[in-house]
Amino acid sequence: MLEHDVLIIGAGLAGMRAAIAAQANGANTAIISKVHPVRSHSNAAQGGINAALTDRGDDWEDHAYDTVKGSDFLGDQDAIEVMCKSAGRSLIDMEHMGVTFNRDDEGKLGTRAFGGQRKARTFYVGDFTGQALLHVMFEQLIKSGIRSYEEWFVTGLIQEDGQVCGVTALEIRTGQIYAIRAKTVIFATGGLGRTFEPSTNALIVTGDGMALAYNAGARLMDMEMVQYHPTTLQGSGVLISEAARGEGAYLLDKNGDRFMEKYAPNMMELASRDVVSRAEQTEINAGNGVNGCMFLDCRHLGESLIMEKLSQIREIGIDLIGVDMITDPVPIRPGMHYIMGGIKTDIDGLTNVPGVYAAGECACVSVHGGNRLGANSLLDTIVFGERSGNHAALASRDVDYVEFDVDEVVKKEEERLQGILDRPQNGDRVGAIRLDMGQSLNNNLAVYRNQAGMEETLRDMTGFRERYASVPVDNKGSVFNTDLIFSLELGFMLDCAGAVTVSALDRKDSRGAQARTDFPDRDDENWMKHVVVTKGEVGPEISYLPVSITKWTPEERKY
Ligand SMILES: Cc1cc2nc3c(=O)[nH]c(=O)nc-3n(C[C@H](O)[C@H](O)[C@H](O)COP(=O)(O)OP(=O)(O)OC[C@H]3O[C@@H](n4cnc5c(N)ncnc54)[C@H](O)[C@@H]3O)c2cc1C
Repeated sequence: MLEHDVLIIGAGLAGMRAAIAAQANGANTAIISKVHPVRSHSNAAQGGINAALTDRGDDWEDHAYDTVKGSDFLGDQDAIEVMCKSAGRSLIDMEHMGVTFNRDDEGKLGTRAFGGQRKARTFYVGDFTGQALLHVMFEQLIKSGIRSYEEWFVTGLIQEDGQVCGVTALEIRTGQIYAIRAKTVIFATGGLGRTFEPSTNALIVTGDGMALAYNAGARLMDMEMVQYHPTTLQGSGVLISEAARGEGAYLLDKNGDRFMEKYAPNMMELASRDVVSRAEQTEINAGNGVNGCMFLDCRHLGESLIMEKLSQIREIGIDLIGVDMITDPVPIRPGMHYIMGGIKTDIDGLTNVPGVYAAGECACVSVHGGNRLGANSLLDTIVFGERSGNHAALASRDVDYVEFDVDEVVKKEEERLQGILDRPQNGDRVGAIRLDMGQSLNNNLAVYRNQAGMEETLRDMTGFRERYASVPVDNKGSVFNTDLIFSLELGFMLDCAGAVTVSALDRKDSRGAQARTDFPDRDDENWMKHVVVTKGEVGPEISYLPVSITKWTPEERKY
């Protein structure tokens, strides 16, 4: 029997940090991931990780204020305080584990400026910070001896009377279904980026954990808050890191003018992401771009800085669109990047479902509120990954495994998957539905939104669900059946897309990433609250939770 005190789904930064913490607390810990751990999307993080270090003349309260303001006052201030207070120690822990952060001329950890922050407090490794962090974390995982189920796909949560008691999972290599018993389960499954098309996210980022938790009774919160990053590459939508602007790059219109002056005269290109993306979209709509794009100009930074600090994004520009940022401005536009919302948790990662925790991008603590500051997500993963690992380990100490009929559970899941394989072959393919869904969301739930557009997507969703019910799986085999996995992922994405759309339709004001042309103002009187979605009898149900305010009174946001 496979059984663990703490079972973590996801081996990105949040999952691995949680695993190491849980193991350190003496729990029998395991981690499960649908891809090899270092292929998790955390690996793609480019720009860096925020922390306010006192010996740099920085202050966690300044970081917290910038985060609260960045969130458009929707972030929970108690949680933001926890994150920003812990940031320094968490960062130094990572350094001690072996992350080779860039250093300045004096040999001290170097920082770069990131958007929406009055101080340069982003620590980085070139423009591949996520890779550096993730690989070091993976070394720690190997050293710890934690059981790691690599290339296992979680298909369902097992519950008895609401209490979680394990998961069902498909071993991708063999196609065999297992039930793994667990006293506590931590979701660290990342975001839902690929629900939108295009997106900066890896193809594996399909919202599995949010959908699994939602179907098990968890609350999804702030789901309308989808971040469009200001600089994604023309065409593919691959990310060009904010690090470029952090190092001093400009945004230009078709005449070569720096249009950010009109929108954020103080912070210019380094205003918060929602502000910069809206500025770009407004300019594009007014015909001041070229082929639906504005330009990122790095030429004045010089070849040596670019080669030292931005070499990866330079290569991306050359490889994908044949533009070298050393000599030419790069065409960019706002693109789907991140979800601020997710599975609602407290500051220890605990959800409303007994025994279930969540951390990282799939969770909503909520430290990002309406808009996440660049480089606060990596911080979120390690701070709340660690806290949820600690808490789950302690919680599992005094409880026994909940009994359930393992054979019965496995048999049922096998039958369900066989049912999918046995479908007639005449329905629409996964790829077609996935593309239509992604484009519908990207048309109607992007930088600017309105009632009519979002209702169109809601209607589209009914059609996507009908088509999904008969989606065929060509591959009938059991070894590495990615066809089957894509189909399961699409089911998760449809649940997530539904939650995003109903939340965005419900919120009738503009705040952070949600900019409604039909409700253009922030309405604190009626909408200073979190929108929550739970699974009801006939579909998603909406409720609300208050925003926690500790010391920063909401005010108008200017950059
Ligand atoms: C291109 C890019 C650049 C970024 N740059 C930065 C940056 O510079 N700074 C910053 O702060 N943030 C950045 N972000 C955001 C940040 O990287 C992510 O929010 C963060 O890394 C998410 O980490 P995570 O641990 O929550 O999830 P992930 O790293 O996405 O890991 C998810 C894990 O869950 C597993 N999983 C999912 N579903 C299943 C399933 N059904 N069964 C089994 N396993 C499953 C996956 O295998 C994976 O191991 C960037 C994001 C992108 C896309």
